[in-house]
Formats: sequence, structure tokens, C-alpha cells
Amino acid sequence: MKMKNNWDYAPAPETTPVEIAPHYGLFIQGEFRASQNGLDMASVNPATEEELFRFSVASSSDVDVAVSSARKALGKWRRLPGKERGKYLYRIARRLQERAREFSILETMDGGKPIKESRDVDIPEAAKHFFYHAGWADKLDYAFPGRKAGPVGVCAQIIPWNFPLLMAAWKIAPALACGNTVVLKPAETTPLTALRLAEVFQEVGLPEGVVNIVTGAGETGAALAAHPGIDKLAFTGSTAVGKKLAEVCAGTGKRLTLELGGKSPHIIFADADIDQAVEGIVQGIFFNQGHVCCAGSRLYVQESVLEEVSAKLDFRMQSLRLGNPLDKNTDIGAINSKEQWKTIQSYLEAGKKEGALLHQSNQSALPKKGYWCRPSWFEGVQASHTIAREEIFGPVLAVMSFRTPEEALTRANNTPYGLAAGIWSDKGSKIFAMAQKLKAGVVWCNSYNRFDAASPFGGFKESGFGREGGRQGLRAYLELQS
Ligand code: NAP
Ligand code: MG
Repeated sequence: MKMKNNWDYAPAPETTPVEIAPHYGLFIQGEFRASQNGLDMASVNPATEEELFRFSVASSSDVDVAVSSARKALGKWRRLPGKERGKYLYRIARRLQERAREFSILETMDGGKPIKESRDVDIPEAAKHFFYHAGWADKLDYAFPGRKAGPVGVCAQIIPWNFPLLMAAWKIAPALACGNTVVLKPAETTPLTALRLAEVFQEVGLPEGVVNIVTGAGETGAALAAHPGIDKLAFTGSTAVGKKLAEVCAGTGKRLTLELGGKSPHIIFADADIDQAVEGIVQGIFFNQGHVCCAGSRLYVQESVLEEVSAKLDFRMQSLRLGNPLDKNTDIGAINSKEQWKTIQSYLEAGKKEGALLHQSNQSALPKKGYWCRPSWFEGVQASHTIAREEIFGPVLAVMSFRTPEEALTRANNTPYGLAAGIWSDKGSKIFAMAQKLKAGVVWCNSYNRFDAASPFGGFKESGFGREGGRQGLRAYLELQS
């Protein structure tokens, strides 16, 4: 393709000042406090490698206090009329909207994602989840007609680093709407917005102990999951840790939901609008640096349009701007951590070593500091290649071809995962036929990565079980009596 794209925007960095305290404690019983053993660790800005702040590391005895705090708060909170609980959720949602700009900047600084994503997706979607569940709080008996709905109890919730505030909202909002109390464990690389959400809880006067936040590394999560005082565990993260947690919960009577990894396929048919499809593919894997559980990381293209799709992919990739995540024109921010950066590099190496051809954007120079990965796709990928089978959680796309719809279906379903899928075609009947047979929790048609608080999200197979969002998501936080 001969098109050239050599213009660029002037820098437009977000310069609104935000405050970040040098140290954050654990949020227990409505107040911030240091961990009992005084241990702490640092959170780094992955775009600059600078230490942003330090935070307390919760030991098992801190976790114990947090769980007791949630237990103590449960009695009053569950008895509060639903409409009163709803009012707190509405207040949280509105306060998040008021503080949206500040939260967007904090999310971007702590996690490395472009400000346009935290501003347009993470923060508004988090507020939406609180609004949506506020509406359910006094209508729970109607959500499941003929059954009396009550809370499950004390909920432990463990979340990852890719959508830190949004994952906190996905977990906390339905739990509180249903009358449960919570102990939340954010990821160690991105605890900032969860801790600032705790400030919001203080601002709106949420009764103390209803939400407790314990920060730390994986051991803190393990201590929380194993605590005998929790009634339910909700986990979003890797399949490896999810499997361990399933073992920990087995036979304990604890309820468990798991939102795990994915290797989601896109299928482009020859009759699709190719420009639209390429844009959807690009957004589905390169935006947020591929740090999306449902990232469309495998692409199956009908053979007759493979050349066109490949050329358009190369062209579009050259116009993606990589760099300062606080710049409003940045499309690709920093990789969340050095560890994740190394993981992605090893997959790029594996792809090349196993014989696939790497295409990378070279539009922007990589910043000198920070963790960066250029948007990348591989040509000539075989189904057996590591990059076609394993979740990379980075901006790396494996492109393959197919001839018939049956072949596309077989190859798309040939994975231990089952989180999401995308179909691109002009023909409605073909889309419906494919969508019914794709083994994925979400199937997007002629679009990708579209979310709504009213629409359940979750996986099949090694992508986990249980749904978040919608009526199905409420179910996980309720005991139903007939
Ligand atoms: P991870 O290592 O499993 O971590 C997730 C959370 O679990 C973090 O808070 C982590 O703490 C904690 N943790 C680590 N080891 C633990 C243990 N032994 N017991 C209890 N908790 C433990 O996952 P990640 O690498 O941070 O996140 C990326 C993964 O999440 C990807 O596989 C992605 O697909 C998945 N994900 C899925 C969804 C979904 O909805 N299906 C959404 C987002 C992400 P530390 O951070 O301190 O290690
Ligand atoms: Mg950080």
C-alpha cells in the first residue's frame, strides 16, 4: 500500500496538578492505618520508572483485622433498607464523576495507560457500575421473582492491574448493593485509585468496615483467600492463580467466582467491511497495550482478504502514537511493570524463533525511560506456535488465515480459554450461526470491547466461571430463599 502518514500532533500533556501522598496505609474500619509489622512497598510510574508513593503491606494478621471489621459491619449493613444502601452507591458514583479528572490522571500515572483511556473508559465506566447497582439495591426481590434475596456475607475480592479502579467498581458495587461487606485486595503495581476510592467512601460517609482495603503483594491475596472468616471469594486475574484459589476454596463452603485469562479470537470474513474490521482489531489488541483480559489476540482472516487486511493493519499501526501516557494524543502507553515487559519480550522472541514474521510499528521513538512495547503482529503463525496458544497480555497479535466458516470455528474454539470473540461480516445470518457455536462468554459482532454494566461478562473453560454485571452478576452476591 502506497499511502503515507507522516504528520503528527503537537504534544498535549495533561498538566492538572494532582496530589499523591508519600505513603498510604491500609483502609480498615473506615480509617487508614499502617500495617502491624510496619512493612511497606513502592508503586512505580511505569512510564518514568519513578517511585510514586509507598504503601503498607498487609500481613495475615492485618488481613484478620480487616475481615473482622467487615464481619462487624455486616449486621447493620445487611439490615439497612435497600433504598438506603442505594443512596450510598449513588453518592459514590456522583463523587467519582466529580473527581473524574483527578482519578484519570492518577490511574494513568500509577498504571501507565493512556489518559484518553482512563478518562474515557476506566473512570466513567467505574461510576456507571456504581449508578447501575445503586438502582438494584432496593429491587433485589424483583430481580429473582418469587425468591427472597439476602446477602452472602463477607466478600473477599482480589483484582488485577489492568483496570484498577474499574475492577474495584465491578467487585464492590454489586457486593454493597446486595448488602454484603467487603475486603478488597488491589494489585501491587496499581493500588492508588483503590486507596483514593477509600477516600471517597469517607467523603460519602459509608459506614465504617463496610469496605476494607488491604494492599500488598500476592501473599496478602493468599492470606485473604484462605481466611476462614470470608463467605465468598471473587477473583479476577491469571488462570494460574485462579486454579490455586479454586483448590483453596474447595470443601470450605466459600462461594467462588473466577474471571481469568483469555486468548480471544477475531474472525474476519471476506464480506466484512475491512476498514471497520481492522480498526476493531487494532483497538481490541493494541489499545491499553493489550493489557485486556478479553483482548482479541488471535486473528483469523479469510484467505482471499488476508493480503488486504495485512496491508491495512501495517498502515494503521504506523499511525498509532506511543509515548507519554499523560499526553491526550497518546494511543499506546507504558507496559504496566518491568515483569510484564519481560514476559512480552520473551513472547516476541518465541514468535520469531518458532518461525513467524514480526511486523512492528516504528512511528514513535521509544522513550528513554519506562517500559515500552511497540504494537506488534506476527505473520505466518501456525496453530502450534506459542504466540497462538498462550495469553501474552501485551500488544501482540497472531494473524492466521482460514478458508471456510467451519474451519474458522474449529480453529477459534481450539483453545483452553473461552472469554470473548469477535466476528466481522456483512451477513447477519452468518454472524448468528457463528456466534452460537463460538465457545466464549462474550461474542462481539462488527465491534469489539464494548461494555455495559447491565450486560453480564465472564468466561468458559479456563477463563473462569461466574458473571459480573447485569442480573447474572448480582446472583453471585446473593443467597436466594424461596
Ligand atoms: P495475577 O498474578 O493472578 O494477579 C491478580 C491478583 O491476584 C493481584 O492482586 C495479585 O496480587 C493477586 N495474587 C497473586 N498471587 C496470589 C495468590 N497466590 N493468592 C491470592 N492472590 C494472589 O494476575 P495479573 O498478572 O496481575 O493480571 C493479569 C491476568 O488477569 C491476566 O491473565 C488476565 O487475563 C486476567 N484478567 C482477567 C479479567 C477477566 O475479567 N476475566 C480481567 C482482567 C484481568 P499482586 O498484584 O500483588 O501479585
Ligand atoms: Mg504503579
